[in-house]
Amino acid sequence: MSAELVEQYQEILPLETHCPLCRRPSSRSDATSEHIIPAWLQTRLSLRDRLLTLPNGRRRHYRSVRVDICSACNNQRFSQLENRLTRIWDRCACDESSFYDASFEIADDDVAAWLGKMFWLLARLGFETPDPTTRNAECVDTVVPQDLMPFMTWLGLYVASYALEKRALSCYSDDTADPANYGRSYSLYRFRIDDQGQPIERFNLIDHYLSMGIAMRLGDLGLVCLYDDELHARWRSAYYADLSSTWVHSVQFSEIVARMFYDQLMLHPLARDFTPFWNSSLDAVITCNGFKRGADPYWGLSDDPDLYADMLNRVMPDGTHAQIERVGDQFTTFLRDRAGNLWDVVNNCPRSTA
Ligand SMILES: [Zn+2]
Repeated sequence: MSAELVEQYQEILPLETHCPLCRRPSSRSDATSEHIIPAWLQTRLSLRDRLLTLPNGRRRHYRSVRVDICSACNNQRFSQLENRLTRIWDRCACDESSFYDASFEIADDDVAAWLGKMFWLLARLGFETPDPTTRNAECVDTVVPQDLMPFMTWLGLYVASYALEKRALSCYSDDTADPANYGRSYSLYRFRIDDQGQPIERFNLIDHYLSMGIAMRLGDLGLVCLYDDELHARWRSAYYADLSSTWVHSVQFSEIVARMFYDQLMLHPLARDFTPFWNSSLDAVITCNGFKRGADPYWGLSDDPDLYADMLNRVMPDGTHAQIERVGDQFTTFLRDRAGNLWDVVNNCPRSTA
């Protein structure tokens, strides 16, 4: 099953006949309707009647964003993870402790799989749904454009490997066939968010297909996960290192997300090329990244300030775009001043990060 999984991962299996998570055949009697944004989150954060913006700009109620998955995925593999998260959330809500601190009780692999599952199911649903904005066009497209889906199938393979309790690892094109070289398939970041007592939304979900990234703000926890064979963590994490030891405002978190998504658009094309293979001794899917291990795959990071500004405006909450000031190729924003120092939101001043 697992070698077959790798061989056929680019095939998009119909939702009517196969589970979109584990790819196993699934009959109607076996299928269970899954809230893509977990029901426990919708209940606790009063999201059910709120609107989720789709990639085509249309909005749907969170409660209606559902897809059928098999009972094994819904009631076993993923429900165990959801139950752990729910217990931690409820405990923190009860004693008013930090969800950010408690989140480290959940391993990175599990957090990445949890976010990846949401990301993948949103993509699958969008891939199946005709885009009403194109209904008068010569070719009617789907909410997630058809030509984007082959690029996303690697995420589907990653999620399937977790669903089937297999490992997912990565290597680079010039690596020898030595398991010691194998690393993670993703870059995951956790940030502590402090809004200084201001009444703000406690939840936000941002995804970007071309960046292969998803971000979520959940109370005082900000998560960013990039499904990139760990390239960002290896080559770009130093830029964000000072942020991991402090708190950030929720608007600053949105800006971090924009910056990380922008980083991913600057990846060399070969670094976006994934070739998976099956390693039976490790019981793992290994993705061979097209780039070489020792070379920086991020090129032209400062070459496209307009694209960066566009990403900022796409990700930032409504009404904050006016805070972005451009001087030449430099931006002064909520996160860093023109000299690159981190803004201290509490004292409303820049502080040295040296
Ligand atoms: Zn399944």
